[in-house]
Order: sequence, then structure tokens, then C-alpha cells
Amino acid sequence: MKIITLPKENFAEFVGHLCSFGEIHAPIKRGDRSFVFAPVKDASEIELDCVRTILPLKKYFFRPMEVMFNFCAGEGYEIPSEVTDKRIVVFGAHPCDIHGLNILDMVFNGRYVDTYYLARKSKAAIIGLDCIPDDLCFCRSTRTDFVDTGFDLFLSDIGDKYLVRVGTSLGDDMVRAAESLFYEVQKEDRDAYKRKSIERRESFKTEIQLQDLPGIMDLEYESQVWQDVGETCLSCGTCSMVCPTCYCYSVFDELDLDGSSGRRKRRWDCCLFKDYALVAGGHNFRAKRSSRVKNRYFHKQRGFVSLYGRPSCVGCGRCKAQCPSGIDIVDVITKLRSETRV
Ligand code: SF4
Ligand code: SF4
Repeated sequence: MKIITLPKENFAEFVGHLCSFGEIHAPIKRGDRSFVFAPVKDASEIELDCVRTILPLKKYFFRPMEVMFNFCAGEGYEIPSEVTDKRIVVFGAHPCDIHGLNILDMVFNGRYVDTYYLARKSKAAIIGLDCIPDDLCFCRSTRTDFVDTGFDLFLSDIGDKYLVRVGTSLGDDMVRAAESLFYEVQKEDRDAYKRKSIERRESFKTEIQLQDLPGIMDLEYESQVWQDVGETCLSCGTCSMVCPTCYCYSVFDELDLDGSSGRRKRRWDCCLFKDYALVAGGHNFRAKRSSRVKNRYFHKQRGFVSLYGRPSCVGCGRCKAQCPSGIDIVDVITKLRSETRV
């Protein structure tokens, strides 16, 4: 992999060059303490110290709600051009964010190919940025604190420069478009990177053992923990909406008043919603909140491991940060393991 450095004094100019590759989206502040990915015009708007945004990057490629196609009787259907036209450059994706997208890539480009997701993703450039974890981050436990694929460029802060890893030919094009801003890696850069890597590793405060969790979950299928969490959960669905790897959606048609034209839409759905497992005839396969909570944990930490060899949780902490009931995934897993949290 090609590795170079970008002095911080050249950062703003580099961001200026990125405009020619698409509309730049990066973390900006929303309110006093929250961050969102949103369009930016220049580097001064970017919040480089953002730990996590409210919504993850999936919002760009798997839209909260979208028109899948417009239809008209006798004329067929048409996919909106917005799905395939727009180029964006996402700047400031953290390692867990990129792992989240890598997981969605596996799901949406697997047995059932999602052309909407893939069309948008193919038009996007991803520029990663290292971060310092807070109390809610446990990406070191999910082994998503470092990323090696899924980005075009990845920047790591090494003091007065960024160490830049070039992940794709598109990333190389971005560098070449501003070649004079970049430099070869020197010995002091390598030393600084290794020093920063240790500092970052030591800054994790939340750790949890996940390697043997699928087996423990099988043993604890009837655990009281699911009842307890079910009594606290409001079934609001927030945890799924903010999760970078939750990908359920429902499909519905909107018919125009003429009765012959309309549009097919889809919107994010959530397995914690009361009617998620409701079927024709009125039977609900997961009528109890405890069974819905259990299903979500089993899908992410058990079923996904069977299917893809890894859990679908990337340890971003968004579900805890946004849950109105304060349900903490690390607490739930710790209780399931009958361990005491340190
Ligand atoms: S955010 Fe919290 S309360 Fe809402 S569905 Fe998720 S776990 Fe339940
Ligand atoms: S389950 Fe929670 S911590 Fe894990 S990826 Fe989803 S939002 Fe992040």
C-alpha cells in the first residue's frame, strides 16, 4: 500500500482539491454536543475531533426512505436518476464507520444484490480519519479499531502531519491531483505513527470479551437478562436507526389519485418495532419486547457470525449514546456472561 504524508498546513488546500471529485460530506457540529455528516464547502467547517456522528454513513447509500421506482400503467417503471448520478466524497470516516460499510457491502452484494446501495456506493469516495475513543467506544473488542480495506485514502494524525494510506486508484488520483502537497514518509514519521498507535490503543476504556460470545448466547437463550432488558426497552427503534450495520427495510407502494401511476418506496425498518414480526392473520412471532430485544442481539452477535464469520456490531457505541432508556450493549453482554463490568 502506498503511504505518504500530508503536512497539516496543506490540509485545507487538499480539501479544496477534493471538490473536483464530488460534493464533500464530513462531520459538522449539530447543537452543543452532537455531530452529523453533512455537506461542507471547505476544511474550516470540518469537526476533526468528532468521536461519532448521530447517524452512520449508511444514510448515504441505504437511504432512510427512498423511491425505488416510479410506475405508470402501460408505460412501465423508471428508477430515479438521483440513485445513480451524484458523486460524493465522504471525509472523516472512522475505522468502525468503514467496517460498518464493509459489512453492508457483504450483505448488499451477497445472495440478494441491492442495486440501489451499490449504485450510490460506486459513486462515492471514502476518506478515513483516525480517532481517539471515548467511554462508549468498544471497537477494540470488536476488532474494528483499525481498517485495512474499504477506503480510498486514510489519514492518521501523527502530530504536525497526517500519515496518508492510499487504498485505491481513486485515492491515488486524489493524491496526484494535489501532488505538491504530499511528501515521502521519513523515519520520524514512522516513529510518530507507532507512538500514536500505542497512545490510541491505551486510550480505550471499554473492553469486552466477544470471541466466545456465540457459544455463551446459545447457552443463555432463556436468560433472565432478556426479560430485564425487555422491561426497559421502549421499542422505539432508535438503536437500529443509528446502527451502522442494521439494514432492515420495509417496502410499500404509493398510488396517485389517478389510480394508474405511483411510486414504490422503501424505508428503514427495525426488528424492535412491535409489528415487525406480525404476519397475515394477526399472529405476531415476536409479540413480547423481550423476544424482540433477544432477536436483535442474536442477529448481530450470533446469527451474523454463523453467516459471515464475524459479528455485525462494530463497537461504535451509537446505540448506547442514543437509547432513551440508557440500554448499554456492553452492560447487556457483561450480564449475559455473568461477569462484573470493570
Ligand atoms: S433505543 Fe433503547 S429503548 Fe429504543 S428500541 Fe433500542 S434498546 Fe429499546
Ligand atoms: S450494535 Fe450498537 S455498538 Fe454495535 S455497531 Fe450497532 S450501534 Fe454500534
